[in-house]
Amino acid sequence: MVQRAILIGINKVNEDKKKSEDSLEELALLSKTAGAANVNMVLKTVKKIDPAYYLSKGMLEDIKELILQNGADLVIIDINLSPAQERNMSEYVGVNVIDRTRLILDIFATHARTAESKHQVELAMLNYILPRLKGSGIMLSRTGAGIGTRGPGETKLETDRRKVRQRIAYIKDKLKLAEKTRGLHRFTRKKQGLPTATLVGYTNSGKTTMFSALTRKGENGENKLFATLGTKMAGVYDKDSKRKVIISDTVGFIQNLPLFLVESFKATLEEVVHSDVLIHVIDPFQNDALSKSEEVIKILDSIGAGEKKTIVVLNKIDLLTNERVRFLQTKLEQLTGNDVIPVSAKTGDNINMLKEKIFNNV
Ligand code: GDP
Ligand code: MG
Repeated sequence: MVQRAILIGINKVNEDKKKSEDSLEELALLSKTAGAANVNMVLKTVKKIDPAYYLSKGMLEDIKELILQNGADLVIIDINLSPAQERNMSEYVGVNVIDRTRLILDIFATHARTAESKHQVELAMLNYILPRLKGSGIMLSRTGAGIGTRGPGETKLETDRRKVRQRIAYIKDKLKLAEKTRGLHRFTRKKQGLPTATLVGYTNSGKTTMFSALTRKGENGENKLFATLGTKMAGVYDKDSKRKVIISDTVGFIQNLPLFLVESFKATLEEVVHSDVLIHVIDPFQNDALSKSEEVIKILDSIGAGEKKTIVVLNKIDLLTNERVRFLQTKLEQLTGNDVIPVSAKTGDNINMLKEKIFNNV
């Protein structure tokens, strides 16, 4: 069931309006990534924060009206709410209200793949929801599963406080154990697996579109060999060399990632460390595209993937003039020290060149 979400941006007095608008735009992308349909989006100017509800009663009434008009069953607020505010708002408007952090955690949960990264994300989620649970917890009891209430791998998050605490202790133990045996596992994975190329880059840069373009079933139907891999991984087969490579999609980098979520985010990138080559996707239309790509490189460095072979891809060239493509290509080559391949994931332009480059690097 696709949830119908209303997105509420927040602009505080004295806060740059453009910044709040950009943040709301990003929230909309994140909401889509989480699988919701965005049915309405409004920016609210907040002069005075209500400690119990965050927004004024008047604004909450407006939101209630929007929920009715749009048949919405979820409200996502582009700010971090206190546990009480989240609960009070949900109660007031009659559907689940979740904040930015909970949305991000939900996305991380659906993207965590290995047992260890699932545990890391679940731990962050449980720590986040624990103070939000009171008694039966209105928001979780009413609607059951949905965005913000799912644990990793579509499991339902535990909502009984006592059990949450037990689960936290259990996961902490597991993680400690995993740390001890980690070296061993990496070794076996590496030996058995096919070569892997992993897509990295900011949200909306076009990773998922590129993933589809690269792994689209060829006329020989060979990609059904990989049918069991799921939606975030798929194989490409090279007819000439008869070789196979697994392409892996990742959760995107997020512009306004709260600091305490950085570790969970890195956990979702765990696959990156195991992969043979990285495909760094750059969206020329993102604000500060160049400094964003530096940010990507820094984070990759910090998870121990700084030395990996990287293919840098300038995406969305169908929307650029040739002159602009050449300019950005040169800039990015200087910045990353790598060749830059200009492509359009959407039209398929140069995708074969990218494929060739991948096969040459694994
Ligand atoms: P992700 O967040 O990195 O996975 O990005 P998506 O693959 O979901 O793409 C984000 C948006 O950019 C979507 O609206 C895509 O249709 C669009 N997009 C992706 N690649 C291209 C491209 O090469 N050209 C154009 N014009 N749009 C693209
Ligand atoms: Mg994506």
